[in-house]
Amino acid sequence: MAWDFETDPEFQQQLDWVDTFVREEVEPLDLVWPGLEFTPLDDVRRKAIDPLKAEVRSRGLWATHLGPDLGGQGYGQLKLALLNEILGRSSWAPIVFGCQAPDTGNAEIIAHYGTPEQKERYLRPLLEGELFSSYSMTEPHAGADPTMFTTRAERDGDEWVINGWKFFSSNANTAAFLIVMVVTNPDVSAYNGMSMFLVPSDTPGIDIVRNVGLAGEPEGHGSHALIHYDNVRVPAEALLGGEGQAFAIAQTRLGGGRIHHAMRTIGLANKALDMMCERALSRTTQGSLLAEKQFVQGYIADSYAQLVQFRLFVLYTAWSIDKHNDYRKVRKDIATAKVVMPTVLHDIAWRGMQVHGALGVSNEMPFFSMILGAGVMGLADGPTEVHKTTIARQVLRDHRPSDDLWPTQHLPKLREAARAKYADYLEHEVGNL
Ligand SMILES: Cc1cc2nc3c(=O)[nH]c(=O)nc-3n(C[C@H](O)[C@H](O)[C@H](O)COP(=O)(O)OP(=O)(O)OC[C@H]3O[C@@H](n4cnc5c(N)ncnc54)[C@H](O)[C@@H]3O)c2cc1C
Repeated sequence: MAWDFETDPEFQQQLDWVDTFVREEVEPLDLVWPGLEFTPLDDVRRKAIDPLKAEVRSRGLWATHLGPDLGGQGYGQLKLALLNEILGRSSWAPIVFGCQAPDTGNAEIIAHYGTPEQKERYLRPLLEGELFSSYSMTEPHAGADPTMFTTRAERDGDEWVINGWKFFSSNANTAAFLIVMVVTNPDVSAYNGMSMFLVPSDTPGIDIVRNVGLAGEPEGHGSHALIHYDNVRVPAEALLGGEGQAFAIAQTRLGGGRIHHAMRTIGLANKALDMMCERALSRTTQGSLLAEKQFVQGYIADSYAQLVQFRLFVLYTAWSIDKHNDYRKVRKDIATAKVVMPTVLHDIAWRGMQVHGALGVSNEMPFFSMILGAGVMGLADGPTEVHKTTIARQVLRDHRPSDDLWPTQHLPKLREAARAKYADYLEHEVGNL
């Protein structure tokens, strides 16, 4: 019987070290260099950050998202979940540990589908943490439904020529290369007619029209690019995987990406709960601490209940991925974690904000950016509604329609069957009356 909720003592020691290291050494980076996580290091930042990365490496905690055959540490998803829930506290922490999205997902697909040359050129430096990548799939007119994408690559001798538009390609402005999903054969179903290309960002014809920011960021200074691909020429060797394989590759990429976001979200929601509790224990009004008010106790209890359910579910899902070694077999649970994640973060951050009063909604506390983060999680890697339909389809697969007019659990029908089953006894009872 193996059903255990304890972490190996050795790995727990590692996690304890990570917890202290992130709080003391890494979280301050969020305050001194906010928003520069995906900008290649200049000499000043390098001096501060390279030694931190070296410490992480020396403890065997660098790039833990990939197996040893793919150039990583091979810790598996469960250990990664326990690590990521600590890293989720800080936006710089995934960079310092070499496991930041979207590069993790991008590395994963190059590792799975790339040629040896592509791995050498793109994967190795990506794993070294020396460059960044961008995933360019969403288009201005279509996001949730990739079958509507129109950006096209046409074969011209030994080259492909890419033309079209992409929207919200995160970090494209600082990335060294883009992974672009395009139509290569419009005459077959989109599921077989789209392909992925690895395109260096300095290829002529890549025009970043503007960098869209999130709410609260100054207009035009964000990191989600609107890109015009204008006769972008790439050699045939730029194709990632086979022609027409884009959908299969996207599933590999997004499965991991979604569950890794969920892992980090545990850490962020936990931080919001910590802040809520600290404030409840620090602030007095109308004769008692906030912590003694039943409404506030309700906020804390509801938050704890949501967080602990979410955490256990994410850990279980991570464990299942390790067990099956295949994201597709755990698709229903990955989609479920993705669907639950924005609500958990939103609700806990919102209550934390409320408990802090005016200070909570100010830009001196991080609650509002957490709430915006929850909104982002309901869209990035696919909208919640689409994932709910995936879950429902998978759940329905395990059920059958009733084979008669009345539902299987219709009580009169069941009662009749039960009486027939125990008719001998019932007749005996009646006979004794
Ligand atoms: C912060 C952030 C980073 C991102 N980074 C990237 C990136 O790096 N690369 C990239 O390619 N894309 C990226 N995206 C884009 C993201 O993948 C899309 O936003 C997402 O797929 C939804 O597409 P859309 O925005 O076009 O919305 P639409 O497809 O227009 O959908 C809008 C809304 O319609 C509803 N809806 C849509 N489909 C259904 C349905 N089937 N059933 C019911 N309701 C539905 C939902 O409410 C949905 O939110 C990012 C998005 C965000 C917010």
